[in-house]
Amino acid sequence: MGLLTALEGGYGDRGDALVVDGRRMSWEELLGAASAVARRAAGAPALAVLARPSLETVVAVVGGLLAGVPVVPLPPDSGPKERAHILRDSGATLLAAPVGETAEDVEVLPVDPAARAARPAGEPPADATAFVLYTSGTTGAPKGAVIPYGAVAADLDALAGAWRWTAEDTLVHGLPLFHVHGLVLGVLGALRTGSRLVHTGRPTPGGYAAARGSLYFGVPTVWSRLAADEDAARELASARLLVSGSAPLPVPVFERLAALTGHAPIERYGMTETLITVSTRADGERRPGSVGVPVEGVRTRLVGEDGGALPADGESVGELQVSGPTLFRGYLNRPEASAEAWTADGWFRTGDVAVIGADGFHRIVGRASVDLIKSGGYRIGAGEVEAALRDHPAVADAAVVGAPDADLGQTVVAYVIPDGPVSGDELTAFVAERLSVHKRPRRVVLVPELPRNAMGKVLKKQLLDLG
Ligand code: ATP
Ligand code: MG
Repeated sequence: MGLLTALEGGYGDRGDALVVDGRRMSWEELLGAASAVARRAAGAPALAVLARPSLETVVAVVGGLLAGVPVVPLPPDSGPKERAHILRDSGATLLAAPVGETAEDVEVLPVDPAARAARPAGEPPADATAFVLYTSGTTGAPKGAVIPYGAVAADLDALAGAWRWTAEDTLVHGLPLFHVHGLVLGVLGALRTGSRLVHTGRPTPGGYAAARGSLYFGVPTVWSRLAADEDAARELASARLLVSGSAPLPVPVFERLAALTGHAPIERYGMTETLITVSTRADGERRPGSVGVPVEGVRTRLVGEDGGALPADGESVGELQVSGPTLFRGYLNRPEASAEAWTADGWFRTGDVAVIGADGFHRIVGRASVDLIKSGGYRIGAGEVEAALRDHPAVADAAVVGAPDADLGQTVVAYVIPDGPVSGDELTAFVAERLSVHKRPRRVVLVPELPRNAMGKVLKKQLLDLG
């Protein structure tokens, strides 16, 4: 069975196997239309796909995979510079886009969901490149992660096990289709398990409520909006699993979602380079603030600043390193970054800081580069300070960073979106009762919103510019 199991048949006559923004297709129609793309893409060094949330995007991605050509999703709103970089870096000579779309910088392969062709023979080997996926660019310029077929298959099978995800499910999401979450997990996951897929176009509370799925994926901003829309949230009571990933899910959102829907959300952690590696399980404990345990086949370890192994004791804070079949192969055209990404003994350095409990449950503290604040000899996790601020009833959200400081190295600064009348001084006094002295923010800045990227991740490097 290949990666695209649903297209092998055997899932009955599902006319609406795939629904994207209200347009529907059966798996058979998808196979026919994607095969037409595959025939035109065959032999190309790479196939860029204009990754709007559309039926055409799914057809084009599947076409590239059927042809055994590396698929390079292009964010639809990427500016000319990012687009030129991705096209040049990936070596894509073709851009799959809806019929009628034109481009000056690359040859366009028009994608027609009504086209039909016979499936190309053969199947790419497990070590062939399925995708070049660009990282979100949260900490620097996006890097092209080279992802083999075998890694995608291993990841999806491990998750299907952890979430008991089967052909009986209807998966609903409205996430971007150029990122590992919406595309690999959200589209190929459906194709691997044979579940129906409803993409809502945009991930709105109303769209999620109306979709009547069994399995829902979202990033924390999606869940936070849903938790604020009581009527929509209650409609999700009939679902089976709600899954959050790509960024930390604030505990108050977890709790409100659980109260309104009757389902404690599943939290999972991963990254473009490792796909999805750690998750709470459908039949296990769903602990707020924890991303659970490594999925089948994946191993993790914690490493201290001196490179030595740290114990899984629920207290030691160190870099999370990963090994297993879901790993990417390296960054395209970046031999140095690729070499630095692995330890001498073959573990991938995530750059994230975590704590592992004796029971194996993982807590992600944040990114070593921005979420671990070093102040006067203390190491402070931004997330702990953010959680203390969010406990205040007049705080809608908070993000904490380290500001450069001549004396202490860094000081703690908090950016808070107020939800009602509250002052910075009041919040400073509030957290003073909850946090030890060195963790308390030196400055609390009230802001109307936090800068975020398309995946809802807070762009912490831009925060200090806000004042
Ligand atoms: P770049 O690598 O370009 O800076 P990025 O790391 O944001 O961008 P992604 O691969 O999309 O690109 O994101 C992976 C990162 O997202 C992880 O390294 C981690 O910091 C964060 N992340 C993902 N899931 C979770 C989660 N459940 N809780 C906390 N952080 C998470
Ligand atoms: Mg990253």
